Amino acid sequence: MTNQKTITTSEKLINTKLMDGNITANVKEAAKILQSKGLVAFPTETVYGLGGDALDENAAAKIYTAKGRPSDNPLIVHIADTKDVYELATEVPEKATMLMEAFWPGPLTIILPKKTIVPDGTTGGLNTVAIRMPSHPVALSLIRESGLYIAAPSANTSGRPSPTLAKHVMEDMNGRIEMILDGGAVGIGIESTIVDLTGDVPVILRPGFITKSMLEKIVGEVTIDPALIEPDPNLRPKAPGMKYTHYAPKGELTIVESDAFENSGITFTQGHEKANNSVTTEESIDNIVTKINELVDEKVNAGFQVAVITTSENANRFNCENILVAGNRAQGETIAAKLYQVLRQCDELDVDYIFSEAFNDGELGGAIMNRLLKAAGHRVIKV
Ligand code: AMP
Ligand code: MG
Repeated sequence: MTNQKTITTSEKLINTKLMDGNITANVKEAAKILQSKGLVAFPTETVYGLGGDALDENAAAKIYTAKGRPSDNPLIVHIADTKDVYELATEVPEKATMLMEAFWPGPLTIILPKKTIVPDGTTGGLNTVAIRMPSHPVALSLIRESGLYIAAPSANTSGRPSPTLAKHVMEDMNGRIEMILDGGAVGIGIESTIVDLTGDVPVILRPGFITKSMLEKIVGEVTIDPALIEPDPNLRPKAPGMKYTHYAPKGELTIVESDAFENSGITFTQGHEKANNSVTTEESIDNIVTKINELVDEKVNAGFQVAVITTSENANRFNCENILVAGNRAQGETIAAKLYQVLRQCDELDVDYIFSEAFNDGELGGAIMNRLLKAAGHRVIKV
C-alpha cells in the first residue's frame, strides 16, 4: 500500500519550459527557479533528475507531488564539491573518503548519517542521507550556479521508466515543474549505484554502473543487500525505493533467460551482480530466440500486439513486427543506455505483450537485470 498521489488535470497549472538553447543562460534561469523553491529537471550522467532545494522541506514536498512518489522513499542530495559532504553528514568514515576520491564526480551515491540541516522531508524520515556528486557538466554547473544542494530523484512519474531523454521528462512532468534543461541523451542510462557506509562493511543497496568488484578494489569487502538477491517478501530492502514496482510498461513483459554461461563457474542469482565477465553461450542464445519466437506466434495468433526487446546481434532473428533494439549484447553499457528508452517505446507502440531476452552478461548484467526484472514484475521463463 502506498500513499501515491494522483495528480488531476486541474492541478496542471505550471507552464513547463523546455530549454535546449544556450546552456549558460538556461542554467542561470534554472538556478533562479531553484532558489525560489521551484523545480527544474536536468541531465545527469545516469538519468534526468528532478531537482529542488534539498534543505527546503517545501521544495522536497513539491518533488514528491510532481512524481507521485510515496513519501517514505527518500531523495538523493546532489553536491558539486566533495567537501560539501561534511556539511550534510555527521560522520564521514575513511571508506567513504576513499570511494569519493575514486568515483566522484560520478554515478555513485553514498549513504551516511545525516546532520539536522537535512530535513526529514528530504530523507523520508530516515536519520541517514544519500549523497552524490554527479559528473554531468550541466548538473555540476546548475548546483554551483544555484549555490544549493539539490535533491533530485529521477524525473519520471513514480513507477515509470527513468528518463534518459528530455522528451521523456516532458512526457511525465509537463505542467508539473517549471523547467526542463535539455542536455541530450544521458550517457549511462541507469541510476547510480547506492552504497550504505553507515556500518563497517559497505553494503550495495542498488546495483549500478559502479560494480561490486570496482568498489572492492578500493575498500575491500563489499556486500549486497540480501533483499536484492532474491525477491523474498520477508526481506525489506534497505533502500526504501527498491521495494516498489518500477519501470513497468503497460503491456505484460516477460523475460526469457538461460543460465548457461561460458567461463562463469558462478551461480546466477536474479538481479544480482555476478562477479566476473561471464557470457551467455551461443547455444543458450539460440534457445532464447526459439522460445521468444514461439511465444510471439502464440500471442499474435490470438490477435494480440507484441514487441520483442533484443540486441543488435539478434535483431533479425525474430518473426515479430515490433523489434526494439537495446544496444549490443557484447557491450553491456550500450544496453544500459537504451533500456529505459525501449521500455517507454513499448507504451508508445501500445503492445499487449512484450518478450525480452535476458541481459545478464558481464559485470553490468546484474544492474541491468535488476531493472528489467522489476519492469517484468519478476516474470521469467527459463530455457
Ligand atoms: P531515485 O532518486 O529515483 O534515483 O531513487 C533514489 C533511491 O535512493 C531510492 O531507492 C531511495 O530509496 C534510495 N535512498 C535515498 N536516500 C536513502 C537513504 N538515506 N537510505 C537508503 N536509501 C536511500
Ligand atoms: Mg527513480
